[in-house]
Amino acid sequence: MPRSPWDPDRAEWADLLDGEPRFRIDQVWQGLHEHGLRPEEQTNLPKALRERLAVEFDGRLEPVVRSVGDGGDTIKWLWRLHDGATVETVLMHYADRSTVCISSQAGCAMGCTFCATGQAGFERHLSVGEIVEQVVLARADAAASGRRLSNVVYMGMGEPLANYDRVMASLRRLNTDLGLGARHLTVSTVGLVPQMLRFAEEGLQVGLAVSLHSANDADRSTTIPINDRHPIADVVAACELFRERTGRRVSFEWAMIAGVNDRPSDAAELASVAAAARAHVNLIPLNPTPGYPEIGSTPEAIEAFVGRLRRHGVNATVRANRGTDIDAACGQLRTRLADGGSAPVTLTPRVRPNRPTVGQTGD
Ligand code: SAH
Ligand code: SF4
Repeated sequence: MPRSPWDPDRAEWADLLDGEPRFRIDQVWQGLHEHGLRPEEQTNLPKALRERLAVEFDGRLEPVVRSVGDGGDTIKWLWRLHDGATVETVLMHYADRSTVCISSQAGCAMGCTFCATGQAGFERHLSVGEIVEQVVLARADAAASGRRLSNVVYMGMGEPLANYDRVMASLRRLNTDLGLGARHLTVSTVGLVPQMLRFAEEGLQVGLAVSLHSANDADRSTTIPINDRHPIADVVAACELFRERTGRRVSFEWAMIAGVNDRPSDAAELASVAAAARAHVNLIPLNPTPGYPEIGSTPEAIEAFVGRLRRHGVNATVRANRGTDIDAACGQLRTRLADGGSAPVTLTPRVRPNRPTVGQTGD
């Protein structure tokens, strides 16, 4: 089965390079992580070795589409994996940082009704290499336009905590070997409580975001089926443990849905749950998806909602959608292609904007 050169860990690379001088292990490892080069691209390696490794590690993320939106500030890829599965990655440039939103699974088994990925169902877990490679490729793309990739959010396709071990290995790799600060890495979860508890004990400074979207169990269970197994009180307890162990607050993600979760009563419920979890709240207008009939809240409704939260003493930020012109919301580009539609592939010249925009998945 084709493997990504970013799949093996260091110990496995040591085995793979058995018979080579010992310094080769560092050389290949640094080539992969510091320089973002596949083995066959590492010209400081002997030709025969490069050829052997190129055959052994022929798995790669093949770009199906690279689309550019927001005047060059949002770049989205749809990648095809070796078995034909497709996943998305979105790179977002801001005035002060560049954030990449990566996928952790092809599809997702959680079935949240408003989510394009959830509507399509689960295909498979991504390997460590497939996760890391998204960051390596986005970092190279950023560098080519003079930007430094600073942040990674696991908010693309899939539920990261359902692919726990590989996601954890990828986080350590991004931190230790790609040199991305743990505080600049964020994992988003639908609220898998046992894994959240485990995550709190990892001793990492990685951020945790929880997709709440409703603050009472009856409502939340209608859009987020896993809420039946892990109700809000358990999620809040896990958030508290996370804060105790790491000293970091979680953030709650709340996609604003007109008439569904943007009412005054929703703001009051959210305020009390956020206070209990000592969470920061990120509000995002819902991105419409083909399988969900509701629409996003109006800007006025969002303003009123955030005002209510703040009067209740909750820390809340409104995030603008990024890349709506290029289907950048979770799972949307893939859905569009699967429907036989054409993806907008624009080669917009990059323009550096000064406007302070915020993104759907930025931190
Ligand atoms: N599975 C994880 C991470 C991937 S989803 C999770 O659910 O947290 C990333 C974020 O996008 C989540 O907060 C999710 O709730 C949100 N999201 C999914 N579909 C959306 C939509 N149609 N509009 C706005 N946000 C959406
Ligand atoms: Fe999966 Fe997250 Fe989408 Fe829910 S919102 S279906 S957990 S990717």
